[in-house]
Parts: sequence; C-alpha cells; structure tokens
Amino acid sequence: MTAPLPPLPPLPPPVQLAGAKILVVDDDPALVGSLTWIFKEQGCQVVAVPDGQELLERLTEERPDLVLLDIMMPHVDGLQLLERIRNEPRWRELPVLMLSSMDPEDGTAKALGLGASDFVAKPFRVRELVARVESQLKRGRELHSAREDARARGAIADILHELTDSLKPDEIYHILARRVARALNISRCSLVLAKPGDVQGTVVAAYENPMLRNLRIELSRYPEILKALETDRPVIVPDVASDPLFAEVRSVWAKSGIPVPTQSVVTLPFRMREEQCGVLYLRTVQGENPLGPSDAQFADTVIKAAVAAIEKAHDFETVVSDKERLEFLASTDALTGCLNRRALLEVLDREVDRARRYNLVLTLMMLDIDHFKRINDSLGHLVGDSVLRQLGELLRREVRSVDAVARYGGEEFVVLLPETAVHGGMIFADRMRQRIANYAFAEASHPVRITVSVGVACFPDRTVDSPDSFIALADAALYRAKADGRNLVRQ
Ligand code: GH3
Ligand code: MG
Ligand code: MG
Repeated sequence: MTAPLPPLPPLPPPVQLAGAKILVVDDDPALVGSLTWIFKEQGCQVVAVPDGQELLERLTEERPDLVLLDIMMPHVDGLQLLERIRNEPRWRELPVLMLSSMDPEDGTAKALGLGASDFVAKPFRVRELVARVESQLKRGRELHSAREDARARGAIADILHELTDSLKPDEIYHILARRVARALNISRCSLVLAKPGDVQGTVVAAYENPMLRNLRIELSRYPEILKALETDRPVIVPDVASDPLFAEVRSVWAKSGIPVPTQSVVTLPFRMREEQCGVLYLRTVQGENPLGPSDAQFADTVIKAAVAAIEKAHDFETVVSDKERLEFLASTDALTGCLNRRALLEVLDREVDRARRYNLVLTLMMLDIDHFKRINDSLGHLVGDSVLRQLGELLRREVRSVDAVARYGGEEFVVLLPETAVHGGMIFADRMRQRIANYAFAEASHPVRITVSVGVACFPDRTVDSPDSFIALADAALYRAKADGRNLVRQ
C-alpha cells in the first residue's frame, strides 16, 4: 500500500470543506500523512486514528463530520469497523468513505452494502477524492440541518403548546426561559424587558433562578443587551473573553475581582405590538458547548412565535384587571371596603333565589351602632370614620368566605349568612355583638368602645318574597333591639 505523494493540482477555492473535521483511519503512516496534508490544505481539521482501535470511542470524543476508513488493516477489518459504526444509531448518518486497494467492483459492492457512503479505490486521484469528500460533507450537512429543522420545529410546536395553555404573562416568561434552556442544553437563559435607550432593564424570568421576579439591572453592564436593543438584531458572541464588545466590561470585571463564568452569549431582541420590548438572553459557561448561529436561530424562532401568546396573555390580563378593578370599585364601599348597598342587593337577589329553588335557609343580620352620633360629637368625625373602617374589618374577619358583609347605610352593616338557620344565625349574631362590645377600637388618644344592636331575619319567612322585604324584616327586628335597650340581638 504505497501512498501517491501528491503534486497538488489547482483546486477550486475551499468552500464546503473548510472547517470540517475529518477522521482518517489507516495503518499506512505515509498515506495518513498525505491525507492530512491534503485536507488541511482545504481548511479541514484532520484527526488520525492509525490502527482503528477504539474507533467508536474516538468518534464520541471527536464528533467528526466525516470518516475516511481503510478496508485492509493489519489488526482490524475496515468493513467490520464500518458495520460497528452503522450499528450505532447516532452514527447511522455519519458520512464514511471507504479507501481500499481492493478490486473496485468487489470493494464498492461490499462497502456500500454495509452502509458506506462512498468508496474510493487506491491509489486515488487527489482531485476525485476531494470532490467525493466534499459531496459527502454537503449531503451530511443537508441531512443534519433537515433533521435539526425537524427537531426544532417539533420542539417549537411543543413549547408553543405549553405557552398557549397559560394566560399569565409571568408564567409564559418562565416557561420560555425554561424550555429554551432545556432545548439548547444550556444552564442560563433569561428574559429581559427593556426598550432601546433604556438604562435599566427588568429580568422577568431566569431559568437559573426560577424564583426571580422583576429584577432591575443596569444595562451598562450588559453590552450584548444594549447592542441587540440598539441594532434590533441578534447578537452572537462565541467567546466573551476575547470579543471586543466586552472590552470595557471585562476591565470592570477584572477590577471587581469577581470571576465571570460566562463563555458565550446570544441576545435576541423581540417586539410586541410592533414595539421593541426586550431580549431573550442566552448564556453558556465554561464546559458547556458555546452558543452558535443555529442556537440563535432556534431561540429566535421560539421567541418570535411566542410573542403572540405573550400579547394575548397581556391583553387578557389588562381586560381582566380593568374589569375586576371596575367591578371592585363599583361594588365596594370606599371607607370600609365592605360591599356597598347596590352589591348587597345583587347578592341578596341571587341568594334568595337560590334558597327558594333549592329549599335552603338563609339568615340576614342588620347591625346598627348604638349612639354613634355621640362618638362623632365627642371625638370628631375622623375618629367616627376610623371606627366604621375597623368595624368593617372586624366583621369581615369573623365571617366565613361564603358570607357577605355590606355597609348598608351610615353606621349600619348587613351580614348575610347563606345556609344558616334561625338558631345558628342568632348564636352568631350574639357572638358578634359581644365581640364588638369587648373590642378596643384603636385610636390615637385612647381606645374607643362601642356597642351594636342587631336585628336577625331568616328565610324562608311568609313575609319575605324579595331582597327588600327580607331587609325590612331584619330592620324591624333591629328596631326592637334598640327599643329594648340597645346592645341586644332581636329576631
Ligand atoms: P342609635 O343608637 O339610635 O342608632 O343612635 P345613633 O346616634 O347611632 O343613631 P343616628 O341614626 O341618630 O345617628 C347616626 C349617626 O352616624 C349620624 C351620622 O353623623 C353618623 N354617620 C353616618 N355615616 C357616617 C360616616 O360615614 N362617618 C361618620 N364619622 N359618621 C357617620
Ligand atoms: Mg346608630
Ligand atoms: Mg342608624
């Protein structure tokens, strides 16, 4: 097996070959030498495994783009090696070119039958060998990118599925950071909200710190974020330690003495409602595979596809909060935070109707502060207000979540107790009366003491056919409590 030492003929400029890693398996040192020389000349990286020993381990270590494999070697059989390679699912599509001085007809049939990508007879013509290697690399790359594409599309569909299940922007940000980090197998991925020209940004989610919420950061310390916002284009920095973009912050890091483990970064700007609003921020540390254009491409597709889900969640949140806020404002009493009269009537309407339909019982308590005028007169209106506020809080604390507390008038409160009959209603009313009588209402000068009179009405009652008649019944009972001497409960 003599190697044809190559007087290299002129070749077209290296395009497909440049940067490829080729593993050469041949027992002939001269041939290995010339193959190395030929492919290095083309801009390739060449790794020689002269005896073919532990080839599978070497493949895992080196992850070559192509293998040149000799068929006849003294200690191992190249065809057996080929078979072993093809038996490993992960190497099934790795281009393997067989080299042999076997009879080409026979060699080709055998090698291709075992899954070789191509067969080159020795002695070979350099130009032909290079062309074949080139075409296999091209095919390998196409296969790889088609597979990556399919994988990315699958992953993106999956991520979007999870995103659209959520309607909370916060949750979506976290899902995004987590899913992108996992898909790319990186340890750091966050979402930073900031507009071009901002000096501060807000980290709304970080995979490396799932508990983090809305952390403010100084953007001057993150040139990669500033640049992405400024240019509205992805920024890919494979090596933070040497990239000029980081010159300034590197000196800041050096001065602070804090080691920065970041090795590569990718920042991807994204827009919402046509406006630039932040970046997806990916980082790797030493020991992880540095980020490259295909990672950026993947993450960019994910964030762009996710924007619609984020927008929808924001819309939903705004609508809900506006609606909830309006409803809250419209239904509560500003001083005490209890339901107002209008909201009480709505609740009463619903509960009376429900009790009637399902044969349920319902108790309504009406409380009125005794001699409240005296408090205003002696301590002032502000103290009066504060007592009303505290009484509202006290009542709300004491009731169950199904009960409703409303401020019905100036110093009159109503408590509605669903599924509560006369006996339980009277016990609860008296307990509240005592509780209030014993309660020290906190005031600046000294605690204020009050008592209340309580009227209790229960549904069903033959006189009750509406919220108004229900209230009238309780009001009549309250009148009796006042007439009987106050600080009393009457039915
Ligand atoms: P009674 O035991 O008969 O209920 O005596 P009362 O003084 O509590 O009853 P009355 O109905 O005569 O007076 C109620 C007082 O409550 C009059 C009013 O100034 C006061 N009041 C009503 N609304 C408010 C309020 O929002 N803030 C304050 N500070 N006082 C109020
Ligand atoms: Mg009163
Ligand atoms: Mg009153």
